[in-house]
Order: sequence, then structure tokens, then C-alpha cells
Amino acid sequence: MRILKISLGVIFALILAITGFFTYQFWPRTVETFADLDATIPAMSGPSPIRLSAFSTGFNESPEAVIYSGGNLFKAHQSVYSGFVIEHPDATILLEGGIGENIAAEHAENFNLFEQQLFAYTKTSTAKERLDAAGYDSSKIDKILLTHLHWDHAAVIPDFDGVPILTSQTELEFARAEAKAHFSIFEEHLTRDGTNWQPFELTDIAFGPFDKSLDLFGDQSFVIVPLEGHTTGSVGAFITTSTGKRFFFIGDSSWSLAGVKNANPKIPLVQSMVDNDKARTERTLALLHEIAKDNPDLNIVPTHDGPVVAQLAQFPAFE
Ligand SMILES: [Zn+2]
Repeated sequence: MRILKISLGVIFALILAITGFFTYQFWPRTVETFADLDATIPAMSGPSPIRLSAFSTGFNESPEAVIYSGGNLFKAHQSVYSGFVIEHPDATILLEGGIGENIAAEHAENFNLFEQQLFAYTKTSTAKERLDAAGYDSSKIDKILLTHLHWDHAAVIPDFDGVPILTSQTELEFARAEAKAHFSIFEEHLTRDGTNWQPFELTDIAFGPFDKSLDLFGDQSFVIVPLEGHTTGSVGAFITTSTGKRFFFIGDSSWSLAGVKNANPKIPLVQSMVDNDKARTERTLALLHEIAKDNPDLNIVPTHDGPVVAQLAQFPAFE
């Protein structure tokens, strides 16, 4: 009788713990937003010479509820490993590049079985394969800009030996320091021979609500800004194309546009796993939320938001 009572108590406590866990994880949350902040992003004074093209290298399906707080538990969301070919007369930049040729071996080697399931992916075609298939000379890629160095972004590096890899100096130092400790960073992406690192420092020139920026071509068509939090040196990029369309590539500060529009952060379990500084990421999200509100024409592109990436011109088409 006593055993039965204890077992019932254990089962009851377990049910309570599990219910509590799921309620905590999936309870819809919004981050604290800025009371009044002018987050207007300056427009270019003249026309932009940039052409842009998007592609995905793989995808992953999961309930929307795991992508952002308040998402539907019963609705599937497609996350992608995207990249963008940005042609400017001064240089052609690959912004992000998705997963690369070596991804299967890297994934198996660096992740335990749980992580392999959690970060399961379906590879479609790598950036290099897509360029080759379209007859686009991959030596035209002058530089690769990575918003940060997590595995699913740095995975493009081995496919483009010798091509300068642009990332913030802060990010490169952060990734090197964290590579052994953090499962999201694959050490071989940082230590391999053949990688032509070209880290940059942001300047003290303000851009809209950002106190630092880097005007990559000096014409305001491609402006890099800090998006600290997800990783210490994460950056985003404002890009204006020749059609006058404005884009803001935000890396992994949010995994979905809905999260930015509604100020919904990632769920707590995901935050604790992938966001290096949870509080800082939430402040960054609050800023992105203001930017979305104050610049209704701006196309905000989270690297992994499948439906958003699918709306852009798909390689080899450009816009
Ligand atoms: Zn990331």
C-alpha cells in the first residue's frame, strides 16, 4: 500500500513537472520593446548598383512553436540554410552560404546523437553546386560574408578555399575562444588551412539606430551593423538593390520574420542552447522590432526563414 502511494506520488510529480516544463517552454512571450526610439534607416541618396539572388542549400521542418515563442504547435515551419549572391560593380559577395560539401561528416563528428536529431537537416544543393549547375563561374565570388560563425553558417567555408571570409573581428575571436566549449561551433571550420580570414572592425559611424557600422562599398548600398547577442560578434547587413528595394539580413537574431514583427523571442530551451547571451539577443530583437515598425518598406530576412527566403529572386535569377 505504501509503495503504491509512493509510486502514485512520483507519477503525479512527474506529470506536474512535464506539464510545467511544456507550459514554460510554449507560453507565448514578447520581449520588452523600446518606448520611443526613432529607428528610421537612412535611404541611399542615389541609385544602387546592386543585384541580389537567393538560394537554399538545405532545410529542416519543425513545428512553428519551436521556432518562435507563440508559434503554432500544430503548424509546420520550414527552416532553410540560405545564401545570397550580391553583385556590386566593385565585388561579388556571397552573403551566408548555407551548408557545404562536408556537412554529413562534420555533423556526425561534432554532434552527439541527441544534437544530431535536434539539428537534423536535409541537404539539397550546396552554394558551389548551385553556381556550377547554373554555369556561374564560382571564381566570380570575391568574398564571403558570414553574419556569425555557428556551424550552419561556417559550413560553406571549406567549399571556397582561398576566398576571403569576412566576419567581424569580435566574432572570429569569440568563435575561436568558444570552439571547444560550444556545440554550435565546429572547430575544424576555424582551424583548417586554406581559409583566408579577413575579419573587419565596425567603424564608429552611426547608421540609423546603430552606433557602429561598416559601409562596405562606401556608397551605402551595403551597410553592415552589429547584432550582438546570438553570438558576441554577430552582424546584420542592410542592402539596397538597383530596383530600389531595401533588405535587412539579420542572421540568427530571430529565426523567423513573425518573431521580429511580434517581438516574440525563441523559446527558452532554444535560447539556452543557441543564443550566447539571452538578454542581449532579446534587446537586439526589440531593436529589430522597432526597425520593422519604423521602416515598413524594409524586407527583413532572417537567414533561416524558409518562406521569407523563398520570396526573393531564386538563383540564377536576380533582382
Ligand atoms: Zn547561429
